[in-house]
Amino acid sequence: MSPEDKAFPEHKAAQRVSFARTIQRADGGSPATSDVSALMTTPPREFDADVAVVGGGSAGYAAASTAAAAGLRTVLIDGSRELGGLCILRGCMPSKALLWAAEVRHLARRASDFGMEGQSLPFNWESVMAWKNGLIAEFADYRQQQLTQGQFTLIRAHARFVDPHTVELGTGRRLAAKSFVLATGSIIPKPPLPQLAKIGAISSDDLIHLKSLPRSILIVGGGAIAVEFAQLVARFDVNVTVIQRSDHLLSGLDYDLTEALARAFESEGIQLFTGTELLDAREDPDGKWVVFTHRAKRVELRADAVLVALGRTANTSTLGLEAAGVTTDRGRILTDSEMRTSVPHIFAAGDCTGPYELVHIAVQQGDIAAQNIIDPRNPRRLDLRLLTEVIFTDPQIAVAGLGEREALRRNLPVLVARHRFDDHGKSLIMGARHGFVKLLADPANGEILGGGCVGPLAGELIHEIIVAMAGRMRVQQLALLPHYHPTLAEIWTYPAEELTRRIPASQ
Ligand SMILES: Cc1cc2nc3c(=O)[nH]c(=O)nc-3n(C[C@H](O)[C@H](O)[C@H](O)COP(=O)(O)OP(=O)(O)OC[C@H]3O[C@@H](n4cnc5c(N)ncnc54)[C@H](O)[C@@H]3O)c2cc1C
Repeated sequence: MSPEDKAFPEHKAAQRVSFARTIQRADGGSPATSDVSALMTTPPREFDADVAVVGGGSAGYAAASTAAAAGLRTVLIDGSRELGGLCILRGCMPSKALLWAAEVRHLARRASDFGMEGQSLPFNWESVMAWKNGLIAEFADYRQQQLTQGQFTLIRAHARFVDPHTVELGTGRRLAAKSFVLATGSIIPKPPLPQLAKIGAISSDDLIHLKSLPRSILIVGGGAIAVEFAQLVARFDVNVTVIQRSDHLLSGLDYDLTEALARAFESEGIQLFTGTELLDAREDPDGKWVVFTHRAKRVELRADAVLVALGRTANTSTLGLEAAGVTTDRGRILTDSEMRTSVPHIFAAGDCTGPYELVHIAVQQGDIAAQNIIDPRNPRRLDLRLLTEVIFTDPQIAVAGLGEREALRRNLPVLVARHRFDDHGKSLIMGARHGFVKLLADPANGEILGGGCVGPLAGELIHEIIVAMAGRMRVQQLALLPHYHPTLAEIWTYPAEELTRRIPASQ
């Protein structure tokens, strides 16, 4: 039983009960309980659909297409004004497009590092945004075609449970389904200080639609969205200050990786305040002010704009989950590893259940939920052994599997080896000297347990480690694997060789 299953022992009990009922009815034997006799005398309930998926983002689309492909009568209900989901409309794709534009400008301005004339490279923000908007329109258009091509029924309406098998739609109509997949995503919570809302602090949704850039910005938060936007706008000449509560940027990751990013930020003139506590925010004719403590001192900083990037929260408050009996924790829908909620026929996937707000996890969860509706006797489970995260800054940060802090926390013995990009041929050619890669291996047999990379194209490089870990590869094998020269990828062979030497069995 997984830890999540332990949270809902009633799942297993409920599954056993309904299974027993089916057997009794199929055998035609006398039911032992009045509960079961009620089932036998009541005609089976008519459902409008076998599966109703609520939410048409990455998780919901994955769930609906898997269910429909298996021949289930599937309905997807989405209440947004614009179809496409967070990733395409306001998340991964617009932010990564703008980051790419910022990187192109940064590289062009560094031309003198490679023996060419450096340029100040003027830009027109409206044109950059128009390019990004064109791209996003293409992605959204494609997703809309997928949603409307008829593999399942799409209903454009808000849905709210009125009982465990029925939702009421915004249109007033009611829809009953045998099973549900909830994939309602996440929303931006209110800022931690009401004063921040009062001074017009913006969110990531606002930033990706900005008509013009401010001259300066204070970014409250040090997570993935905060650091990506910090570098993005800094590379378009905005004066950036990041104010972070934890002592480290990206506080969930290993500190050696995030320190390399902090040093790169400082070299680009991005000011960092870590270990802070927010006190106040106000506005006057000079601009917007944020007041906080830093190293026991009160600091007041002014900027033209303030971005609050402190994460998102599950979008479940209008779903009527009480009427369905679905258990939540601070809004997040609790599921087991089969993506089943506290109600056996209701599943959840994506940001509304978490705990990782990542697209590839949302897609996996949606698919698993649908698979478990299609074939509950062969349950699929979410496997987080290969959990991966990428931060699209420059240097990029990417991690897969186990990290050093996590190994320490769980008291797991690991061997760790690193190799730096400023000691590697291809990265020196590219002028990408920040960062390093590291490998974590099992000291007993050399199995690769995790990898981390902070440096050029880390988000691409980490996939070699994902593939190696999927195949339970050992460092001894990775060290011998042919790597083309000169490539960034061959950097993995150095820590693999070092670890091979340190594993007694392989000597
Ligand atoms: C700025 C930013 C950058 C990001 N970058 C990355 C990245 O680089 N990589 C990555 O992996 N992840 C990234 N993410 C996170 C990623 O976008 C999300 O994890 C993912 O899009 C979540 O998908 P989802 O299907 O759970 O939810 P969503 O895509 O939000 O879909 C939920 C849908 O449900 C609908 N809905 C909600 N309630 C109801 C209701 N009651 N009835 C009917 N419909 C309803 C909504 O309208 C919406 O269409 C980023 C996020 C942000 C904000």
